[in-house]
Amino acid sequence: MSPNSKYVYFFGADQTEGKAEMRELLGGKGANLAEMASLGINVPPGFTITTEACNYYFKKDKTLPPSLWDEIIKNLKSLEKAMGKTFGGKKDPLLLSVRSGARVSMPGMMDTVLNLGLNEDTMKALAKKTSNNWFAHDCYRRFIAMFGNVVLGIDGEHFETILERKKEKRKVEFDTELLVDDLKGVIKDFKALVKKKVGHAFPEDPVEQLRMAIEAVFNSWNIPRAIHYRRLNHIPEDWGTAVNVQSMVFGNMGPTSATGVAFTRNPATGEKKFYGEYMINAQGEDVVAGIRTPQPIAKLKEDMPASYDELLEVYQTLENHYKDMQDIEFTIEDNRLYMLQTRAGKRTAAAAIRIAVDMVNEGLISKQEALLRVPAEQVDQIFHPMIDPKSKVKVLGKGLGASPGAATGKVVFSPDAAAELARKKERVILVRTETSPEDIHGMSVAQGILTAKGGMTSHAAVVARAMGKPCVSGLGELSVDTRKKKAWLNGTEIKELDAVTLDGADGRVMLGSVKLVQPRITGYFTQLMSWVDKVRNLSVRANADTPHDALVAREFGAQGIGLCRTEHMFFDEDRILLVRKMIVADKEKTREEALKKLLPIQRSDFTQIFKAMEGLPVTIRLLDPPLHEFLPADPKEIKALAKQMKVSPSALTKKIHSLKEANPMLGLRGCRLGLMFPEIYKMQVSAIIEAACKLVKKGTKVYPEIMIPLVGHVEELRQVRSQLDEVAQDIIKKAKVKLDYKVGTMIELPRAAITADEIAAEADFFSFGTNDLTQTTFGLSRDDSGMFLPEYIEMGVLDRDPFVSVDVSGVGEFVRIGAEKGRAANKKIHLGICGEHGGDPKSIEFFNSLKLDYVSCSPFRVPTALLAAAQAAIKDPKP
Ligand code: ADP
Ligand code: MG
Ligand code: MG
Repeated sequence: MSPNSKYVYFFGADQTEGKAEMRELLGGKGANLAEMASLGINVPPGFTITTEACNYYFKKDKTLPPSLWDEIIKNLKSLEKAMGKTFGGKKDPLLLSVRSGARVSMPGMMDTVLNLGLNEDTMKALAKKTSNNWFAHDCYRRFIAMFGNVVLGIDGEHFETILERKKEKRKVEFDTELLVDDLKGVIKDFKALVKKKVGHAFPEDPVEQLRMAIEAVFNSWNIPRAIHYRRLNHIPEDWGTAVNVQSMVFGNMGPTSATGVAFTRNPATGEKKFYGEYMINAQGEDVVAGIRTPQPIAKLKEDMPASYDELLEVYQTLENHYKDMQDIEFTIEDNRLYMLQTRAGKRTAAAAIRIAVDMVNEGLISKQEALLRVPAEQVDQIFHPMIDPKSKVKVLGKGLGASPGAATGKVVFSPDAAAELARKKERVILVRTETSPEDIHGMSVAQGILTAKGGMTSHAAVVARAMGKPCVSGLGELSVDTRKKKAWLNGTEIKELDAVTLDGADGRVMLGSVKLVQPRITGYFTQLMSWVDKVRNLSVRANADTPHDALVAREFGAQGIGLCRTEHMFFDEDRILLVRKMIVADKEKTREEALKKLLPIQRSDFTQIFKAMEGLPVTIRLLDPPLHEFLPADPKEIKALAKQMKVSPSALTKKIHSLKEANPMLGLRGCRLGLMFPEIYKMQVSAIIEAACKLVKKGTKVYPEIMIPLVGHVEELRQVRSQLDEVAQDIIKKAKVKLDYKVGTMIELPRAAITADEIAAEADFFSFGTNDLTQTTFGLSRDDSGMFLPEYIEMGVLDRDPFVSVDVSGVGEFVRIGAEKGRAANKKIHLGICGEHGGDPKSIEFFNSLKLDYVSCSPFRVPTALLAAAQAAIKDPKP
């Protein structure tokens, strides 16, 4: 970093230096303030200190760049000139807001200080200048509390308590009802509190205040909740935050002033309708903090018609300019409108889809842009459950439908309780008076969130929508006692662990758990998906083990089944007995008997799946059970099996013990089982081919693909395949039909990937089983990784869970080698992915870059995968 680099950029008053494209340097807020100023929108002037200054600050042991302060003072002078006011001035003091702003918005994560520059003298000057004593005192008490909290690190609750006590004493409900003398008392108490907490008086020198506030914003980049948020959202540590120093405008100057937030379209549904809230005679976060209940934006038309019209115009300008739905913050000072922020608005998946499609139809964006606008990761949100309209419900109350979807679960009153129960796999509903960023860890594990205070733009509402979980906010009749772990709602007492159900679409809160149903797919979704199909290269198949799953997958657009796990078919009560019999059988005859009974059952399984997937390929994986998953452990079950097999329970127990493996994941499974007990695979192949032949005879189009699991050496595949081909050919010949079937293998062991050229000679297709491949590449058992993998991520050893997003440089390298070698040896080989990664957008981007043929994922992830495949193709067009 050169010593003379520029660290400060001015905006507003026709001296704007930045623009929207400079978000990396100026942060999102700063870049957009500059952009709005350039568009001629009324923005209070100010200047932005760059993220580079922040990075310098942390690199150099928390010291500011030497040239920075001079630059700040120079810009401050320009600002004073533009405003005609003086910072710290005794006649017409300039007040500042000091605002953080990282590259991407981190809602509520960083802190802002308003009304900076006030002390006893400037406060008096402000009162005189505005002839508004109440207003000046209101600003001052706000400033001391915010500065005390953000800069001096005093818990905000202490300030709240002082204010609350004053209101109680004066028997008033709202801050605005306090009189000047009350505010004076509050200010005195605030100052005493500061002195007690930090050991020195509240800083009176405005320049000193400014320096401290700037450093505090830098420091807020590294407070625990900011770090937590970054981890959760994969935001690099070294992005840093910018600081915006801006002249204040005042929404708390009386009935002709207001402050508000709005979305240019409905962030829950996407409907093209201006949407927002405001509060008269208020400042800053009052609207989102739920101090008073805000007014819906439409009412501004009555209260301040001129400002309302102006606001509509601004919002049109912004939408047309950014070509996206905007989330805006504004303040009206004595009937004059100022814009304080604009950014792309967070939205639910349903809203994202509708907005993208509408904007194409409005001619604002192209279809490709529309596809990139919808986060693939979130598409499955639109399949969120709804309350079964037929179910009888007991509605306790109705708040705001802040984030759609229905949720049912047990009530908890603290984020810690939510986290603890969630760890025990309980479904919980987090109930709070209001939420704050400290609640994130509880919100992220809850099924749904319910708050008493706060509107549609409250913290709870915004965060819940971003997380895609149901939220009911602003339920005024709800009172919550966190300590007693109780809440009351319209006369009903709700205790911790009571079951409740929320409807985040219409705001209803119901007692007990209510039946939920899946919603239907909208026309917007269908339209978007029709564009998806035109651009993507990857096919998307589904992992489906039952005809039902196959049908669901097909409805979602799956182009076949990429993985049908046959072991899941055996978990039915009457079948498992047969399977157990087959496994523990000592005599060939016993095994054959069991297999004979299983054959027709399997045949009918396959018949139904082939029918559900008519015309599309169906990849069936032959049995691959880690044995321990099948063996009975419960003495009662052992007894039952012993009886069936006509052996003594003790003999059977012994046999089961002898089959026990130290590492079942690496034991006798997959094709090893097929080679040790050939009858099992022969039975399965018979069932597959018989089912297929029968259907072909009836004119049904079937494309069976037989997949051999856990091959590590070509010889394993060669031997299994030759046995199976024999069985299959025999059946086809007898049936006198023409049936094309394929035989391929999973690539899920490093050795298979490395020798893929040899294996490809024996295989019609490869399916990379990336779950097992991750396990075997890392040498990390999936069943045990829970003990330390989360810690690994916390500690930063791993960036993400490799079972969620493919580890590109390790596991991904095996996929790349396997694909390359496979193709080199067998030009016709078909390559796909099965395993969780097949539905993960980040992994899909990688698989697309390898030019694989398809990915396969769980049915509900199919739309996500389809969209992700399209996005990958748009971002990385084939040469
Ligand atoms: P966040 O990123 O948490 O939204 P902001 O920097 O946007 O923080 O500040 C929060 C709120 O403070 C704004 O929505 C606005 O109401 C108020 N605010 C910020 N800057 C100013 C200003 N210059 N004048 C008046 N109010 C301001
Ligand atoms: Mg905030
Ligand atoms: Mg803001």
